[in-house]
Amino acid sequence: MSKSELSSIVETSSDTAQLISTDDASTSNCAQLNNLSTDQNEDDEIQGSHGVRRRQPVQKIEPGSLNILSAKYESLDYDTCENHLLLDEERKRGYTFVVWKDIARWFIVLLIGVITALIAFTIDICIEEFSNIKYKQLKKSVDKYILLDKLYIPYLLWVLTNISIVFIGSMLVAYVEPVAAGSGIPQVKCYLNGVKVPRVVRIKTLFVKSVGVITAVVGGLAGGKEGPMIHSGAVVAAGISQGKSTTFNKDFKVFEYFREDHEKRDFVSGGAAAGVAAAFGAPIGGVLFSLEEGTSFWNQALTWRTFFGTVVATFTLNFALSAYHGHPGDLNYSGLLNLGKMEPFSFQFYELPVFILFGVIGGLLGALWNHINYKLAIFRIRYISSPWLRVVEACLVAAVTATCGFLMMFLLNDCRPLGEDPTKVPLQLFCADGEYNALAAIWFQTPEASVRSFLHDPLGSYKPVSLLVFVLSYFLLSTWTFGVAVSSGLFIPNLLTGAAWGRLLAIVIQYMLPSSNINPAKYALVGAAAQLGGVVRMTISLTVIIIETTGQISNALPVIITLVVAKWTGDFFNEGIYDIHIQLAGVPILPWEPPPLTHNIYASEVMSHPVFTLRTVENVGHIVEILKLVSYNGFPVVDPPLIDEAEVPTYKRLRGMILRSQLIVLIQNKIYNENANTTWSNLNVDMNMFRKEYPRYPSIDELDILDWEKTCTIDLRPFMNPSPYTLPHRASLPRLFRLFRALGLRHLPIVNDVNEVVGMVTRKDIARYRVWRHHCHMGMEELLLSSE
Ligand code: ATP
Repeated sequence: MSKSELSSIVETSSDTAQLISTDDASTSNCAQLNNLSTDQNEDDEIQGSHGVRRRQPVQKIEPGSLNILSAKYESLDYDTCENHLLLDEERKRGYTFVVWKDIARWFIVLLIGVITALIAFTIDICIEEFSNIKYKQLKKSVDKYILLDKLYIPYLLWVLTNISIVFIGSMLVAYVEPVAAGSGIPQVKCYLNGVKVPRVVRIKTLFVKSVGVITAVVGGLAGGKEGPMIHSGAVVAAGISQGKSTTFNKDFKVFEYFREDHEKRDFVSGGAAAGVAAAFGAPIGGVLFSLEEGTSFWNQALTWRTFFGTVVATFTLNFALSAYHGHPGDLNYSGLLNLGKMEPFSFQFYELPVFILFGVIGGLLGALWNHINYKLAIFRIRYISSPWLRVVEACLVAAVTATCGFLMMFLLNDCRPLGEDPTKVPLQLFCADGEYNALAAIWFQTPEASVRSFLHDPLGSYKPVSLLVFVLSYFLLSTWTFGVAVSSGLFIPNLLTGAAWGRLLAIVIQYMLPSSNINPAKYALVGAAAQLGGVVRMTISLTVIIIETTGQISNALPVIITLVVAKWTGDFFNEGIYDIHIQLAGVPILPWEPPPLTHNIYASEVMSHPVFTLRTVENVGHIVEILKLVSYNGFPVVDPPLIDEAEVPTYKRLRGMILRSQLIVLIQNKIYNENANTTWSNLNVDMNMFRKEYPRYPSIDELDILDWEKTCTIDLRPFMNPSPYTLPHRASLPRLFRLFRALGLRHLPIVNDVNEVVGMVTRKDIARYRVWRHHCHMGMEELLLSSE
């Protein structure tokens, strides 16, 4: 049966159009716009009453384009399906179950906190131990071969060590689990926004991520472990809360009642927060991160539970690290990133413009960093798409990073007396006896330790030219590294770059105002915050994270000012790096607010029609045909149409909504009316039948459906959602948007005045309307939907 034949059976086509066009004045406007939306050859701008709307002209879909939405991303369903089975379950279980479920929630959050922290602990220890071994061996080699004038040997050793370590991680990422590449924050952000990013919260991803981040940092790349920790926390949460592992095919038969998108997403937001807490030792920063960066749905209970999770994670990590470092009970190691205790620094009123200037510089550099990274990402999409090329690129980055470090140590002879700062592997190189090379100390340690050095070393520790060269090279290296096939984040490299240029500016200020007593830590910290803020554009959570990692609340004001200015400056040029990557992937993410000036866009022009609907009692063969024909995941359930004298179906009143996954489970278990008295009346037809399969349902092609079954019928009424949210066809886009955003909807049937289904709106239909900005110009554009 062809698509058009089938749609003539299932949809509300021509009569729908009539119903809309005769309804009210607004719809003529809609019809015009609808024509425009189907006629792609029209002008690419529509002059609406409120300004210019840009419509994408027909264009070939270029890889790496920012104005395309990918149809491959499905949505999560935050709305509870209140069907008969759920009501039955509630009736049977009563209040005891409510209390029990709540206790289970807190217990799961406790487990998430503990396990996330233990993963962080393992990653941290591995990185520290392996790095120690690596740099000690390299130092030995340098000390030996410098006397023989054969420095190329330690250089080659360094390059080869880096390449081989990075090779392991990038092979895992490129061949085993590509979604584990990068920091994982963009993917977690999408998940929390309500988009199912394939494979993002799987155990395999966690494994690749953890091993990948160890190899990336030990391999000397300009990357950090903090972003991956956030992703790891999210995976842990998604795994534990479900009480089963689909990968290992093991069902522990616990927590079945949490096997739905709504509950899982809440746990994932707690897990991501616990990840932040473990990464930075920042429990409050963790909660704020989830709030600022992701979760579209938030309530007080969730805040409390998330906070509990972050505190548990911080405490567990602190305890484990303190014990490992030989001071059990001291609790001095609060997070993976510890910027070292800062002294409270005093600042004067006249310094505020300086902080603003730092913010502007951070915003400009951040925007440049993002732009270069965006261009590199497009280049990768176009030319470095095969896994082996991605591995080669990662190894190349590893080699270039080591080369940069070596050249700097070799060419810039920046010497410092021994004993002034606690570097573990001081290299003398060409320095006099009793001195060591300051740049070698920066390169021969993990990037976190280098951030600490830049923050805490005294003012004269580094020559300005060393800092300048370091800033330039690390800036470029870090933007090149973010996006290669390794698991690593961007927090640390940007903090490091910012701390270096902050320190450089401190030297400049000291030079210009010789009488003043400049504190380099203050400017290094503000510079670090500005650079990172300019790249990621987070304000509240980043401020709190920085305060918590430096343990100094009195330094908050300069950091806040700098971060806000960096965000404003950066936003003038482009989006934050995570949003850029989300747009590049074409994820249908919903921003906080609906596009402005869109009250004149109506549901009838946003919606899809004709709609594929099912009848309350539907033929199995028909359901199977529809499921095979279209890939939609939700179908309105309608009353069977009445046939009037002219044999025109006249009546399709909405009765409910049913999901593809529910239909699949019904067919899989053969819940046919004809079998009711024989086979399935003995089955436990309850919510657990659906939960058992969650979240990986078989596809319709995988089901064994015999010919005789296709003549059977299914009564969809006990299983469908009998009260889905709907809107009338005259509802405006902002109204649709708010419903989707606030309630986390997946499907929204559009009805006419007599509750008949006339259209269907999904998240992708809403996400297609986006504000574009280019410096001072602003407007709205409609993104293209691509099937890739
Ligand atoms: P999701 O992918 O978010 O799980 P879905 O697969 O049901 O949801 P989308 O992929 O978002 O739907 O839909 C793609 C397009 O198909 C959208 O323009 C949407 O309006 C349309 N659409 C979705 N469901 C139906 C349906 N039952 N009948 C007709 N059009 C539909």
